[in-house]
This record gives sequence, C-alpha cells and structure tokens, in this order.
Amino acid sequence: MDNQQTVSTAGSVSVPPASVEKHHKYEFFKVVQGYLDEAARVIDLPEYIKTILSQPKNEIIINFPVKMDDGSIRLFKGYRVQHNNLLGPYKGGIRYHEGVTLDDVKALAAMMTWKCALMNLPLGGGKGGVKFDPNKVSRDELQRITRRFFHALGSNIGPDTDIPAPDVGTDAKAMAWAMDTYMNTVGSLFRQSVKGVVTGKPVAVGGTLGREKATGQGLVYTIQEWAEERDFQLGGATLIVQGFGNVGSFTSLILSRLGASTIAVGDHTGYLYNPEGFNPHKLQDYVKKNRSIAGYPGGKTISREEFFKIKADIFIPAALENQIGIEEAKSLQVKLVAEGANGPCSPEGERILIDRGIDILPDVLANAGGVTVSYYEWVQNKRSEHWTLEEVDERLEKAMQRAYREVVELARQKKCSMRVAAYAVALQRIAAAYGERDIFP
Ligand code: NAD
Repeated sequence: MDNQQTVSTAGSVSVPPASVEKHHKYEFFKVVQGYLDEAARVIDLPEYIKTILSQPKNEIIINFPVKMDDGSIRLFKGYRVQHNNLLGPYKGGIRYHEGVTLDDVKALAAMMTWKCALMNLPLGGGKGGVKFDPNKVSRDELQRITRRFFHALGSNIGPDTDIPAPDVGTDAKAMAWAMDTYMNTVGSLFRQSVKGVVTGKPVAVGGTLGREKATGQGLVYTIQEWAEERDFQLGGATLIVQGFGNVGSFTSLILSRLGASTIAVGDHTGYLYNPEGFNPHKLQDYVKKNRSIAGYPGGKTISREEFFKIKADIFIPAALENQIGIEEAKSLQVKLVAEGANGPCSPEGERILIDRGIDILPDVLANAGGVTVSYYEWVQNKRSEHWTLEEVDERLEKAMQRAYREVVELARQKKCSMRVAAYAVALQRIAAAYGERDIFP
C-alpha cells in the first residue's frame, strides 16, 4: 500500500491522489479473479463455468477526439467492458477518472455480474470509463466528452443490450446527455422507446425517484441488518467516511437521520475531522458547489494517516478501490467496514481486518442498492410508469434484506467470509442458468 499523500490539503488546493500511482501496481482484476476462485471452490462450481467467467465477453476500447474550449483537439481513451450477459443485458456504471485502466474496468464489470446475480436482477455485468480528470475540464467540455463517447459506443449499448449508469466522476446530468445522444443516433421512430439506454437519469427525463441516494440507502439497509444482528445501536454511533461524492454523502446523510454522526471525512483533496459531527446536508451542498471538501469551514484538517486511526464505530469507504491495505487495516479503530466503494479493501487488508475481528459488509452486497434501483428505473421506462419514493424504498429494503440474509446464511454454512459468500450466492444463480441452457452450439 502506498499512502504517500504527504500534504493534508482539505483546506487548500487539490493534490494528485496517491491512488493514481497505486493503480499501475494494483491488479484489481486479478484480485476479483482470486475471489472468484475461492467462491468457486466453496460451492464446487463446474470448471467450465469458472473458465467462461474468468474473462469478459467483450472489451471495447475507443480513442475519440474532442474540441476543447480553447479550440485545441484532445484525444480521450474510453472503455466499455461487457463481462457477462447470461442473466440479461450488460449493466454497469461509467467512470470518469484520470486513473481508469482496462484492468480496473474489467474488474468492476465482473463485479457487476456478481452483484446483479446476487440481487436476483435479470441483468448481466458491464462497466465503462474514460481516462481523464473531470474536475479539470469545463461543463461544456464535459458535455462534449460525454456525447462523443456515447456516440462512439453506438450500438454496442442499448436498452436491451447494455445499460450504463453513473459511477465515479459521472452523475445524473451526464446520463441525461448520454440518453439524448443515444436517442439522436437511433432516429425518430425509436426515440421514445430507448429512454432505458441509461439509468441514473434526472427524474425529469425518465429517471426514478430514489436513484440518486440508492447506493447510500441500500448500504444503510445492510448496516441496519448488521446492527440488528449484533445488537448494536446506530443512534449515537460514530462514522468516518472516505469519499464524499454520491455514495459517501448520501450514506452519511441517511445514517444521520438514524442518529449516527460523521466525525471525519476525506476525499481526493484531503481529510477533515470534527468530533462534534459534520452536518451532512451542509457538507453535501458544499461539495456539490465546490466539487470537493477542500476549504469547508466545519472541521480540522488532518492527514490521511490520522484519518485511518480515528476511533469510530463504522468506516464507510466510498471513494476508490485499494484504499485499505496492510497499514490502514492495522490502523483502523472501528467495528465495521461497510463498503460503499467497489474493492476498497486489498486482500491483505481484508485478512488483517478479519483477524482483528472487524466486520466487513462486502461491496458486491453492500453497494448493490444502486444497480437495484437502476433496475427499477429501467422497468419503469419499459412500462411508462412512475413509482413513488415509498414504493422504491420499500422494494429496495426488502431486496437488500433478502440478499443480506442469503449471504450471511451461506457464510455460516460454508464457514467463509461474507465476501466469498456474496460471490458464491451469485455464482450459484449463474451456474443454475448455465446448467439449464448449456453452451451454444
Ligand atoms: P463520486 O464521483 O460521486 O465520488 C467519489 C468520491 O471519491 C469523491 O468524493 C472523490 O473526491 C473521492 N476520491 C477520489 N479519489 C480519491 C482518493 N484518491 N482518495 C480519497 N478520496 C478520493 O463517485 P460515487 O458514485 O460516489 O462512487 C464512489 C464509489 O462507490 C466507487 O467505488 C463506485 O464504484 C462505488 N459505487 C457507486 C455507485 C453509484 O451508484 N454511484 C454504485 C455502487 C458502487
């Protein structure tokens, strides 16, 4: 693990995240394959199914030019990886980040296959990304990059083929541009029937109520299940949150309504500490306006190392993969790590956490609320329906509770980690479908 972020900068300008260097060394796809192997052993997955799942079906790489505000032309590299579509169309987010690599996108696409299967959704796994820093381009440039990328993806995506959604660096607005671009490529006859080409859209253009907060909401439902099992009171509990974008901010906000307070936060610009607890509404508004926590007046600037040593009840990683390595796992003073981010624990970090008796709610389960509500949005688009927020939340709560119980039960039965159990439940569902269908021809 690196953690070479030498300056703590929450109050000043942004520094390049240490994880960018780390990306080149950390083989995220291999890590995911390692868990696939482990879960396959646990449930005696037929070898041929593991072989099929060990690589994605399609890996699309697109280099596309965009005219920047100053008139110059910049070439961007975009990826879309379609891992598996046995259970339904490929589904997964689009990430805008300067550290995006094909390896990351492959790992994240595979995780989407497990996530959709675990949640019993009729969807497969995909993921995409464009390698650039969205904080360093203008709003107009962001729109042109998005439109040009989605135009280049062309018929590789579609409401019954592959359905992107927001991820790190993208939001509802980007999905509106993406939908509009796709609609303009299919021609007027089909315009109205392709709203479901992306999910996570603004409600005004076919998005669903409850999608923006869905990943945080789903994470909180799993935390509530964990708390009930452990007889742990969320009222009065403390949390530390890494990443205060969509997932981190909504998790902090929803948990605050249950009486839990966020006492430290961090993002790509640095870390802040406030033992009295942050006001998550104010901080979320601030981040929406300023794109980071840098300069937020309500806390003391601390270093990344100090952040990981803070005594709290729950740690919410909600930034990037590979954030909890050996050092962080040894430092953390929490009872639970609830993975809002995908792949935040390295395998070594996870082993240390488990040895230290720290519980982990694994990503494939814990942050599956996002894709679950994306599925609700897709269904509503297909049926031209609008569900109420209560309807969405109620369905999501039941879906998260069911998945949580299935994972806990299998983990107990097979005496394996929650992560391996989450993969295993997903693999059982995928194996059942392959078993029935056999392999073409
Ligand atoms: P976002 O872009 O809204 O927020 C990302 C946050 O991470 C920002 O606060 C950013 O400053 C911070 N960050 C980036 N680099 C960092 C670094 N090096 N150190 C510390 N913080 C850093 O993205 P998001 O949608 O909230 O996604 C966060 C995580 O959750 C990702 O792992 C993503 O794959 C996962 N996830 C997102 C969704 C979703 O619905 N958006 C669903 C499931 C999982």
